[in-house]
Amino acid sequence: MSATWPTTPSVLSPMPTPDLLSRNRLERVRLADLTTMRIGGPADLLWLEDRRDLPEVIEQPHRWLGKGANLLVGDDGVPGLVVKLGAAFDTMETVGVVGGVTTVRVGAAFDLAKLIGATVKAGLAGPEGLAGVPATVGGALRMNAGTNTTWILDHATRVEVVLPGTTTPRWIERADLPAAYRTCGLPSGVLFLSCEMALPSEDPAVLQATATRLKQAKAATQPLAQPSAGCVFKNPRPDLPAGKLIDELGLKGTRIGGAEISTIHGNFIINPGRSAFAGDVAALVRLIRTKAWKERGVEVNMEIETWACPADLHVHPKELV
Ligand SMILES: Cc1cc2nc3c(=O)[nH]c(=O)nc-3n(C[C@H](O)[C@H](O)[C@H](O)COP(=O)(O)OP(=O)(O)OC[C@H]3O[C@@H](n4cnc5c(N)ncnc54)[C@H](O)[C@@H]3O)c2cc1C
Repeated sequence: MSATWPTTPSVLSPMPTPDLLSRNRLERVRLADLTTMRIGGPADLLWLEDRRDLPEVIEQPHRWLGKGANLLVGDDGVPGLVVKLGAAFDTMETVGVVGGVTTVRVGAAFDLAKLIGATVKAGLAGPEGLAGVPATVGGALRMNAGTNTTWILDHATRVEVVLPGTTTPRWIERADLPAAYRTCGLPSGVLFLSCEMALPSEDPAVLQATATRLKQAKAATQPLAQPSAGCVFKNPRPDLPAGKLIDELGLKGTRIGGAEISTIHGNFIINPGRSAFAGDVAALVRLIRTKAWKERGVEVNMEIETWACPADLHVHPKELV
């Protein structure tokens, strides 16, 4: 199947209004500078500072960007607006304490590592189980980011979102979210603005020990010194981690262009010299998916999201062989 690479960024259409531009900063960026994989072409980046401008932004072609830790972006960049939530969403506050359980409200732009640092220090249990996951709170909610011990949505009581097709924020109770492994359960295009988390008290030393242990375990098993977007594939089954499968297929260390399947963890594709193109990563993704299907009859699907990359990365692997 031949890969078709979509468009280069176009002139913004419609152009943001002067009102919007007076309240929010628009700049031309290279997405390689804003993603942990260090791959991605040009884009128009808007720092959204004011909730009043949500309707105008949402009515344009747009994409939400967090820390860029779960993204593969095409080298030609993306059309439309790439929107990062600004300082107004980079907040954390305590909203109440009931029966030893503290409720905190956290903005979607808040860095997950900062949240963990703050809750560990305050002796509030829950977020420390996500130690070592690079993310904004919004990006983590969107993916229901997690580790072997916990997912972020295990600790949320409600989330503030703008659902696709609407422009007004609303709160949704956690119990009403059909969240599961690596999905918040809401439709693609949903915007997370904030969440509330109910966190029981715990000894800060105990929480710190858990966070440290999780970070050490990651450092021992993942290529954290090299640019990557974390695990490329979802585990096909709970008893078959994608990394183990890729290892068994003999693919660790395979290199295409500047991209390499990590020798440390088979489910990481790294960009060691920061010279890889999105097409190099895409070629490795196809190789893994077709080999897993042909040799083991296993369908492996991507965990990382792709922007302006070939659509065949997401088709059933039988269509690739
Ligand atoms: C070294 C490394 C280790 C990792 N380890 C783990 C791990 O253990 N567990 C795990 O789950 N993940 C892991 N990841 C992947 C990544 O950390 C998570 O997927 C994280 O949730 C990405 O958050 P982000 O803010 O970077 O989102 P981005 O990568 O910026 O965006 C990812 C998706 O979320 C959307 N998005 C971003 N912000 C919002 C928002 N406010 N509202 C709605 N949608 C939004 C984007 O449009 C995009 O579709 C790892 C990544 C790396 C690089």
